[in-house]
Amino acid sequence: MKLQVENLSFAYDQEPVIENISITVKKGEFVGLIGPNGSGKSTILKNLYRALQPKGGVVKLDGDDLFKLNYKQAAKKIGVVGQENSLPFDFTVEEIVAMGRSPYKKIFDGDTLEDKEIINKSLAYMGIAEMAKRNYLHLSGGEKQRVLLARAIAQQTDFLLLDEPTNHLDIGYQIQILDFVKNLKVTVLAALHDLNLAAMYCNRLYVLKNGCIYKSGTPEEVLTPEIIYDVYGIRADVSVHPVTKKLTITFLPGSLNIN
Ligand code: ADP
Repeated sequence: MKLQVENLSFAYDQEPVIENISITVKKGEFVGLIGPNGSGKSTILKNLYRALQPKGGVVKLDGDDLFKLNYKQAAKKIGVVGQENSLPFDFTVEEIVAMGRSPYKKIFDGDTLEDKEIINKSLAYMGIAEMAKRNYLHLSGGEKQRVLLARAIAQQTDFLLLDEPTNHLDIGYQIQILDFVKNLKVTVLAALHDLNLAAMYCNRLYVLKNGCIYKSGTPEEVLTPEIIYDVYGIRADVSVHPVTKKLTITFLPGSLNIN
């Protein structure tokens, strides 16, 4: 599944929030959106999963215009996992994962045997089968994210949009969630807060600043001390980690550019 975003723009009222955003995610890639708070990462993703309506631009999925697909057609192609706190549902874990099957059925259809099998496999894959009957609201942040990812897996899409999926999670859960996603071997576009996690998991990155793409490329191309300083206003030391062979970024205290 290939995603092409061309000149996407969005404004709340008259105030532009993102302008002329062009992004390509090739089949099998894990692409990250990074940038400071308020730079427009979430707004881009919300436009792509149609929680917001763009002011301009075209989005194509394998050449088809995404905005011309109906909800069910789009939901068979794109799964979405948002931030941990974004779904205050009073449902059981199993019921939430079963929602992943809704694009495949009519309004009052029950779950078929095949649906049940897919739901059970998704629960098992995420290691949450024993929580199936528990209330989603009573779970910890990391457990909730595993449920939302299980729902996206049950949706059986080849493409995942992730909006800061590891926000508020401890480091163990952050790594666990991103490992699960990576192992799915689907195509991913993810807004990520943490530059070290972005360097570790992403093939390519788009760096956002004030609603525009400031730079794009491999982590090595974009996570330079200069770009980090230009975008975040903080000095950083960037090196290749001897074990992971990925970039590792150390932020240098006392260097914040407040101008
Ligand atoms: P990020 O995900 O990078 O933190 P957002 O996409 O959430 O950034 O926000 C981009 C900009 O849009 C920010 O300036 C933010 O204040 C603004 N914004 C976000 N949501 C709304 C809203 N509902 N109404 C008006 N402005 C908003």
